Amino acid sequence: MQDLRLMAVHAHPDDESSKGAATSARYVAEGVSVRVVSCTGGERGDVLNERLKHDPHIERDIANVRRAEMARAAQILGVSHTWLGFTDSGLPEGDPLPPLPDGCFALEPLDVTTEALVRVIREFRPHVLTTYDENGGYPHPDHVMTHVVTMSAFRAAGDPAAYPHAGAPWQPLKVYYNARNPDRMERLDEAMVRAGLEPAYADWRKHLAGQPRRTITTQIRCGEHFPARDDALRAHATQVDPDSSWFAVPLELQVQEWPFEEFELAAALVPVELPEDDLFAGLRSLPDLDAVCRRAPVRDDAGELVLAYATTPPASGPEARSTAAQDADGDGRDDMREEEGHSG
Ligand SMILES: [Zn+2]
Repeated sequence: MQDLRLMAVHAHPDDESSKGAATSARYVAEGVSVRVVSCTGGERGDVLNERLKHDPHIERDIANVRRAEMARAAQILGVSHTWLGFTDSGLPEGDPLPPLPDGCFALEPLDVTTEALVRVIREFRPHVLTTYDENGGYPHPDHVMTHVVTMSAFRAAGDPAAYPHAGAPWQPLKVYYNARNPDRMERLDEAMVRAGLEPAYADWRKHLAGQPRRTITTQIRCGEHFPARDDALRAHATQVDPDSSWFAVPLELQVQEWPFEEFELAAALVPVELPEDDLFAGLRSLPDLDAVCRRAPVRDDAGELVLAYATTPPASGPEARSTAAQDADGDGRDDMREEEGHSG
């Protein structure tokens, strides 16, 4: 087997454990090198675990606590990890929304953030990237910006004229969005009801029902790595309430009903056959994968990459780009905030 490398770009420490973590662990177990990049340090995250709220040690130095949590999660998943070094933008709340804080990730000039990620791509040389969709999956300003920066770096990393001081050009061949599948939540909720348990995803399903459906192209079988995913999530102790819906569905039931994580193929430079069950589909058979990534990719007259596949984003509703709190049940608090596993 060729050496394969996967890079998962995330906004905050803990996002790598709540999105695609079992997939990371599965590829690591297969011998793939997996690198997680955290764009920010999560400095503006609230403590979401009731048991750790008002702990003076944590309140004094949340940034350091989150660094230690991230190191532990990376160890559990078997991934290497890079801090991109930008500052958490925080989740703006209120009406009208307050301005974002000076110097935060979402306000950094795009060429600065892009160069930082291009540098990491050229150093690690991933064949495949993962990131969030154009709405950030969850509309936190750092998640939306993570999408923008990842796509910008995907377009620039293989261009010898772009960021010449950030390393030798390297073109990843595919980029995916972490996907959330409403069918999975429905299936698990039904199974919970059959088992006499409370359905866990009522809020999520209500939230997703109001949003355009994304195209899920790729299903990764990774049920045997769900325990590692959960352990990695628990390692982010300040961000994840151990009693939250993350852990509500018994593992055996999850493995039995839906042993997958899912992705939306955003762009590919190689021909693909959809649906797929492997992030490296279409790449494993290339005789010299690294040589392909080192070659300058074909571009059109406007300088854009010529793609073999590009996803079509769903027509977005008026709230799709909003960073406002999501409050479908009108109880005055953000339905998804704690479900998401972090606030910042
Ligand atoms: Zn996040």
